[in-house]
Amino acid sequence: MRYSWLSVLREALRDQSGWQPAWRDAAPRDSYDVVIVGGGGHGLATAYYLAREHGITNVAVLEKGHIGSGNAGRNTTIIRSNYLLPGNEPFYEWSMKLWEGLEQNLNYNAMVSQRGVVNLYHSDAQRDAFARRGNSMILHGADAELLDAEGVRRMAPYLDFANARFPIKGGLLQRRGGTARHDAVVWGYARAADQRGVDIVQNCEVTGLRIEDGRITGLDTSRGFIRAGKVGIAVAGNSSRLADMAGMRLPIESHVLQAFVSEAVKPLIDTVITFGAGHFYISQSDKGGLVFGGDIDGYNSYAQRGSVPAMADVMESAMALMPMLGRLRLLRQWGGIMDMSMDGSPIIDLTPVENLYLNAGWCYGGFKATPASGWCFAWTIAKNQPHALNAALRLDRFRDGATIDEKGAGPQPNLH
Ligand SMILES: Cc1cc2nc3c(=O)[nH]c(=O)nc-3n(C[C@H](O)[C@H](O)[C@H](O)COP(=O)(O)OP(=O)(O)OC[C@H]3O[C@@H](n4cnc5c(N)ncnc54)[C@H](O)[C@@H]3O)c2cc1C
Repeated sequence: MRYSWLSVLREALRDQSGWQPAWRDAAPRDSYDVVIVGGGGHGLATAYYLAREHGITNVAVLEKGHIGSGNAGRNTTIIRSNYLLPGNEPFYEWSMKLWEGLEQNLNYNAMVSQRGVVNLYHSDAQRDAFARRGNSMILHGADAELLDAEGVRRMAPYLDFANARFPIKGGLLQRRGGTARHDAVVWGYARAADQRGVDIVQNCEVTGLRIEDGRITGLDTSRGFIRAGKVGIAVAGNSSRLADMAGMRLPIESHVLQAFVSEAVKPLIDTVITFGAGHFYISQSDKGGLVFGGDIDGYNSYAQRGSVPAMADVMESAMALMPMLGRLRLLRQWGGIMDMSMDGSPIIDLTPVENLYLNAGWCYGGFKATPASGWCFAWTIAKNQPHALNAALRLDRFRDGATIDEKGAGPQPNLH
């Protein structure tokens, strides 16, 4: 069923009785050409682009819970392509371009909102670093503007410019950045993949990977054994667990990242703002809640829940930036499991096991990467080699020293 203003009108006239399920809840078959593990945004996008770009439709996406129950449904929905390094920026800018055409391609309202992303700077040194990043973005075809304090004040007069410790000196603005509705991205990709014949199998946990003579042959699951020609792992925070089933130890740690939403208020923040003197980012949802987050909890964990210390830490930054937030009530907080790589950049690559592919290491920023990640992973699986856009996102870069240390911070997951 195609969605259009005509279909909305037709259903309005017949009491909404004609809508059909957006995708089939498929039962697993015995065998597939390609199996993708993980029904988050990345897994579903991969299946969609395998079918759309490469004509590979005998594909299953296996999800242990329901689709979107992982980080795809837990993030703060920020999309942007404001990276510095050549290994990253072209990839994220390609993602931005795919976001810009996503709703038309999927025939689904993903609520992509290019409301702008402002990274605030609070010192001269930080301004210089942001100027360098902005220049790199422009050289790679992205948009970037360096604002002074007055420029930021015009966009966001409610910020505490005179904060004694962290005065706001300006910001790096990417106008094409913004937000997208995370659930809708999952549902849109699921529907579009299903329409091309992909089986989306929910409540199907992968419990083992069968490897014979160095080559993957299938998967043990909670719903039986499934044979597979190729297998792609896209399980975000569970990447180390899946890789362990194939005898691989990844340069990845799993950490909890929390997010928060306030009670709904009238329109206040019409852009995305990040604090440069602490780890804090904030936007306002279309329902009116202020959506914000900060740093990872700082210890390895597979818990998907909130905690008081992280809340206190995030609220400190919130109050330093926007003291009026102290008058708001917090509605909810939650956590997701982050796959923190040791250089802060992701991995989309082949693995030492033949026909087994890895998509992991998304750290704080995998939601914005969803379209390009799926696009590049599909290419890598279909052609058995990386695309130029993900050529630097190699797994063996940690062995060879070709790391993409975007923050120049070394192997410290808490800083990425
Ligand atoms: C609080 C929070 C805020 C964030 N904010 C942003 C943001 O503003 N912008 C941004 O770009 N990124 C953000 N991120 C990061 C982003 O959400 C992730 O990097 C991205 O969603 C990861 O890819 P995914 O969607 O495929 O992961 P997921 O949705 O986690 O998908 C992986 C799936 O694999 C499934 N799975 C795991 N193990 C198995 C198994 N054995 N068998 C079958 N299935 C399995 C899981 O159930 C899960 O559904 C945030 C993350 C969190 C937690």
